[in-house]
Amino acid sequence: MRRTHLLEQLGPEAVGQQLTLTGWVHRLRNLGGLIFLELRDRGGTLQVQVTPQSACFAAAETLHAEAIVAVSGTLQLRPEKQRKPGLGRFELLAEQLELLAESKPLPFPLDDQGVNEELRLSYRFLDLRRPAMQAALRLRHQVFAALYRLLDQRGFLSVETPLLTKSTPEGARDFLVPSRLQPGQFYALPQSPQLFKQLLMMSGVDKYFQLARCFRDEDLRADRQPDFTQLDLEMSFVEQEDVISLVEELVRALFQEVLGADLPRPFPRLRYQEAALRYGSDKPDLRFGLEIQQLGSWAPELPGLPGEGPLSLLAAPPLSRKQLDQLAETARRFGFSQLPWSRLEAGVLSGGIATALEAAGFRPPELPKATLLFLRGQQAGAAFGALRLALRDLLSLLEGAPRFAPCWVTDFPLMEWSGEENRYVSMHHPFTAPNPEDLPLLERGDLGGVRALAYDLVLNGYEVGGGSVRIHRMELQRKIFSLLGLGPEQVEAKFGFFLRALEFGAPPHGGVALGIDRLVMLMAGASSIRDVIAFPKNNRGADPLVDAPGAVEAAQLAELGLRLA
Ligand code: ASP
Repeated sequence: MRRTHLLEQLGPEAVGQQLTLTGWVHRLRNLGGLIFLELRDRGGTLQVQVTPQSACFAAAETLHAEAIVAVSGTLQLRPEKQRKPGLGRFELLAEQLELLAESKPLPFPLDDQGVNEELRLSYRFLDLRRPAMQAALRLRHQVFAALYRLLDQRGFLSVETPLLTKSTPEGARDFLVPSRLQPGQFYALPQSPQLFKQLLMMSGVDKYFQLARCFRDEDLRADRQPDFTQLDLEMSFVEQEDVISLVEELVRALFQEVLGADLPRPFPRLRYQEAALRYGSDKPDLRFGLEIQQLGSWAPELPGLPGEGPLSLLAAPPLSRKQLDQLAETARRFGFSQLPWSRLEAGVLSGGIATALEAAGFRPPELPKATLLFLRGQQAGAAFGALRLALRDLLSLLEGAPRFAPCWVTDFPLMEWSGEENRYVSMHHPFTAPNPEDLPLLERGDLGGVRALAYDLVLNGYEVGGGSVRIHRMELQRKIFSLLGLGPEQVEAKFGFFLRALEFGAPPHGGVALGIDRLVMLMAGASSIRDVIAFPKNNRGADPLVDAPGAVEAAQLAELGLRLA
């Protein structure tokens, strides 16, 4: 029996025709005289009716869930009252049935939403049979297809760069691969194609993109995997504004084509400092308000408000005692032993530190009803950033909010001080150009004050992309390496090839990389990138399906000239 249609190909014109369909037995109902079999393929499920008169009734009686079958018969419209949208309009009246494969009972029912994730990952090939997972795979494919087409239309060339290569610093640890042909030597898997895409600009490729696999050995979170996919792109003869507007237009077209969703035009922009002050984060969730207010050095000493430094305020909707306790828990993570508060109603303060506030002459914001939260000091911004998100979830602030709120964060510092390493480190990577206006600061050695020509794309509180204008002059690149504390030998060993390339001239260039896993996660409305990756790793960096990472044989190690310590 040869298949004539995928379920997704069925339309009204197939009604009355003799078809052969294939798929999995999704559900089976034996009503004694009549068998209803729900047939599933990647396009959905279709009801198949097997009557006792049918030659295949006996065969249907012996079926079990998840068996793979081919079934022929006539497609008919379901009786008016039973019709549902989509495939629910039709049913197949079965005449012949062939069992193609049987299945053991599944370790979990496919329609159970609460299955433990480790079990799901161990049986990922079954987990992927769920309609939601099929939809995620399809969405991801549509994103890839659209990006290829949209970038091709805009003159971008896709070029592959190597996976076995040399370290590319993006602030994470490298995954290393030992070389057999040169014992004792190692390749690194790329943290990004950064240096290769810059070399491609020096080669005259002009506009490059790649849906690139990247590898970073970091601790895992719901939005991080050790191997992940970026849309990597780079453009020559451009300034920051050109890259930003290209990416913005691309992302808007992508959301429109794949989801029919309209993103704002233009995306709002925030400077890094401003994002920190107003939202306590460099990746603010702009789907809701709740901005932090700066009260400056007002009320240097206030009973009930410990610490020192500028005071800030978050005016939240009215909160219960229980909610205040939950929020205090969040503040504690940032070193605050308490979360001072006061109620505000019709201009009158009450509860918490109200008396102290009034005594100090505090002028409350003009709000009908609120609970005011106060923090001061170094960590106040970060703590309020986390409190905003906690309030978002606690008070369901996203109800009625826009589905997508993108923004750009610009003017990042070029470098930040690392107490751990006792030196300045790049905030993005060492190839990012300083803002020309801040070159005098760089000359003076005032490194903390130098802004970068770097920008992040943020969506719903997630960093979904980042990029920069690059340094395209050799002398400046050398200088930055040395300011980052790299000695001449280190520079030569790590980046000698790159500096030599710059000596032959590089066009001004810049680019960006978008995290495809996070982007698709947000487009799918999923809460973990694992839900939009076919075969992801768990939070220990392991794949329980294939059991990776795993031990290797002594002979393999010997061949590589390695011995385990
Ligand atoms: N290479 C950077 C990254 O992977 C992105 C870029 O600067 O284009 O984050």
